[in-house]
Amino acid sequence: MEIERITLNSDTPGQELSLRVVRFSGAENGPAVYIQAALHSHEIPGMVAIDGLISRLAEAENDARLAGSVTLVPHANPIGLTQGVYGETLGRFDLNGRINFNRSFPTEAAEKLTGRTTAERLKATLLALAEKADVVLDLHCDDEGPVYLYVSEQQLNEGRRLARAMQATVILTDASNDPISFDLAVGGRWAAQNREGDACFAATIELRGMMDVTPTFAEQDADGLYRYLVDIGTVIDELPTIFPVETIVGDVDAAQLIPTPVPGALLYDVEIGDWVREGQRLAVVMSEPGMVHHEIRSPFDGQVMTRRDRRFARRGDDVIKVLRHPLP
Ligand SMILES: [Zn+2]
Repeated sequence: MEIERITLNSDTPGQELSLRVVRFSGAENGPAVYIQAALHSHEIPGMVAIDGLISRLAEAENDARLAGSVTLVPHANPIGLTQGVYGETLGRFDLNGRINFNRSFPTEAAEKLTGRTTAERLKATLLALAEKADVVLDLHCDDEGPVYLYVSEQQLNEGRRLARAMQATVILTDASNDPISFDLAVGGRWAAQNREGDACFAATIELRGMMDVTPTFAEQDADGLYRYLVDIGTVIDELPTIFPVETIVGDVDAAQLIPTPVPGALLYDVEIGDWVREGQRLAVVMSEPGMVHHEIRSPFDGQVMTRRDRRFARRGDDVIKVLRHPLP
């Protein structure tokens, strides 16, 4: 195991940020894998899963069971970590440039961006680390949700393999060529190098919700990542077979966020993973106690994917996401 610290000059004098990169070197006949967590810097489930993965990989390296190399960036966003505002870490958007850390990836190499913001140089640095690999996994989490994946539509077969290993219950496919997120931006870099196709695979893994940071989930997710690395031949090991979970697949546009037209307290009727019918009540929004409350109903048959992790919503806030899907 080797640890490298990549330093990034900050946008203000007297401040320097760093990225910690953990590398395991294999025999180089298996796929090279890059995994990062917490690009949205307050999304912690991936970071703690990587901790469990490191001990498993250290053992594999010691036993000469690494067929491919593995590069890990357990905390991919040191800028977001500095954005503590009134006791909260605001890690989704760059407070300076106002851009989502998982959007607007530069096409240039980091060395060509010396005069640009730290956020741009950070994104280019992460892409440069990731594009060298054959498989890239970007670990995030939702407010409240299941384990689910985003993959490009062309890579659904590989996505199913990842879903089996991670026991993900939903795969959202993206048919567009717009490289909006990190995994798709890596795909864009591979395409520019004529490396697209079955040999290269990138995905975003959403590891449940913000509050789902527990020893049990960390262990389960480290196991899932390790199982996937064994499955694709990066690590050599024999693992017991696991009980398969049912995974549903839908287009990313079939997953609809439903906003509330009124502000107020949120009282959910349904849980993550519940199947709901068109018109079924999903939540009540209580603006004024003692008055009539607003009801949020499902626009179609489908499965409840995600909920908001706060129980107060402003007018126009998204409160629940339902994936349109025929009922089982
Ligand atoms: Zn995220």
